[in-house]
Amino acid sequence: MSALDTEAARLAQLIREAQTVIALTGAGISVPSGIPDFRSPRTGLWRNVDPMEVAHIDVFRRDPERFWDFYGKRFQTLEHKRPNRAHHALAELERAGLLAAVITQNIDQLHGRAGTRELIEVHGTIARSRCLRCGLRFALAEVRTRQAADVRGVPRCDCGNPLKPDVVLFGEYLQPDTLARAERLATGADLMLCIGSSLEVYPVAELPYMTLAAGGRIAILTQGSTPFDSYASVRMGGDVVNDLEALLAALALESGS
Ligand code: ZN
Repeated sequence: MSALDTEAARLAQLIREAQTVIALTGAGISVPSGIPDFRSPRTGLWRNVDPMEVAHIDVFRRDPERFWDFYGKRFQTLEHKRPNRAHHALAELERAGLLAAVITQNIDQLHGRAGTRELIEVHGTIARSRCLRCGLRFALAEVRTRQAADVRGVPRCDCGNPLKPDVVLFGEYLQPDTLARAERLATGADLMLCIGSSLEVYPVAELPYMTLAAGGRIAILTQGSTPFDSYASVRMGGDVVNDLEALLAALALESGS
């Protein structure tokens, strides 16, 4: 048995024993879909900009034209990306009744597109944009149409106000109800799969701690180290797709299928 298969078998065992398993995912799970992690070395869209500066709520309020010049490009790079086999593996686990929910930092819609139903997007999603004045919401395709139609490249509500992506921008708080839901899930889980996240950024840095504090276990499937490595019952650090497919194989073997 390879080291990968041994770890996958151990994780499969923990999943079988657990009552409630949840997954917590970060940028690493979308890298195989061609979406670079902007916290890693600067590539593509992020090469010449500081995301902390331009994807900031203050820029949106002060200079929507500049904000949307950047965010429109961001939408463009994200809107045709497809879920990869790691996203599909999590959807498969949920269908098999072995995964209660996915909490993600990602805004790229890929978990939902892969078929995950119980999905908590703590940093929001590009799927919609909203008018902060009258609260109207618009789907991504409509936002793109309105952006293209505006001379300044700013998608606008019927009331004329610039739309804001339903994404938590730098300088913004997370939605309290979304965060509360994630925290309830973390506290109630007896196993959390931490996938593709360095577990360093709030709030995901706190969620594994909540699971551990409530007596649950964590498994970490991430390249590179995390602050939680010494607390992990299973640690897989290879390719996220390979790791999850090995896990599925281990579960299928155990279920005799
Ligand atoms: Zn409006």
